Amino acid sequence: MKSKAVVAHELNKLAVEEVEIDDPKAGEVLVKIGATGVCHSDLSVLNGTIPMAMPMVLGHEGAGVIEKLGEGVTNVEVGDHVVLSFVPTCGECYFCERGEHHFCSVGAPNGMMFDGTSRVHLGDRDLFTMQFLGCMSEYSVVPAISVVKIDKNIPFEQAALVGCGVMTGAGAAIKTAEVQPGSTVAVFGCGGVGLSTVQGARIAGAGTIIAVDLNEDKLALAKEFGATHTVNASDDPVGPVREITGGIGVDYSFEVIGVPSVMAQAYAAARRGGTVCIVGLGKLTETVPLNAMLLSVEGKKTIGSFYGNANFRVDMPMFLDLYKSGKLDLDRMITKTYGIDEALKAFEDLESGVNARGVIVYE
Ligand SMILES: [Zn+2]
Ligand SMILES: [Zn+2]
Repeated sequence: MKSKAVVAHELNKLAVEEVEIDDPKAGEVLVKIGATGVCHSDLSVLNGTIPMAMPMVLGHEGAGVIEKLGEGVTNVEVGDHVVLSFVPTCGECYFCERGEHHFCSVGAPNGMMFDGTSRVHLGDRDLFTMQFLGCMSEYSVVPAISVVKIDKNIPFEQAALVGCGVMTGAGAAIKTAEVQPGSTVAVFGCGGVGLSTVQGARIAGAGTIIAVDLNEDKLALAKEFGATHTVNASDDPVGPVREITGGIGVDYSFEVIGVPSVMAQAYAAARRGGTVCIVGLGKLTETVPLNAMLLSVEGKKTIGSFYGNANFRVDMPMFLDLYKSGKLDLDRMITKTYGIDEALKAFEDLESGVNARGVIVYE
């Protein structure tokens, strides 16, 4: 079948193309996509920060309806609404057996399906798909173990956000760092993921939530989502963060941008014995210098958070329940929606940082 899709042809060359999509093979499903969030990681693939094979259909934060089942699929039915996970969960690998589903190692994320072939073609070329999903497309064939059924009453735009930004950001606060009630938190970086971390800290019951960013508009947004204090990072923000906590530093410090110097700030802002949680993705060539004496003396727990420690089949419906009960605000996370023909504009807006989240919606 034909489908319009957002294709990264080569570095920094993006186009909306009409691609040909095959039927799902065994263990796969065809999804009619309802909405796709435009995430910073899509841009990072396009500009080479995250190296991936091209030409690739982008998109890894999506929700939609199951249209067709491949052989042997039993976890969903045609007509089910689903959120897509950018990490499949096989349940059988080394990591899944240890309850670390977010590290599931089934298949190689090389842009092909598990059997090493592609379901998407442009002319006579096979296209790669991002994280087995490539869901910036009207239709996509994905592994059945990459989808979870959700409540049909939840709009696709809101549901899509849970597939990456919310799971990554709120998951870091609730699942990875396990923020405790009454604790003090600082969040460095208030884009879509950072705002989700602010929300996660609020849901977990943090008493003080300090949002740190260069952009006053984003700081104002962070306050709406639960920040109790804001610090503009145009001057060194570590002093002000420590001051707000009586000179002690925060219990939990999150870096949600992926910039080494900001990671060092997040480390410095945590109290002795506190937790430093790195959510942002820097470049593979970059390193973060840490003081060789204070690493021990200050006894901080420095932890990386990948995909918010997601067990997505449990956690994504959990976040959508929090949305339904009014505890997680997804409505105001969506600043703007775009048709697929406006995808290039959506990427421009992402780069200029005007949206909490831009979302592509389909007819
Ligand atoms: Zn993402
Ligand atoms: Zn696995």
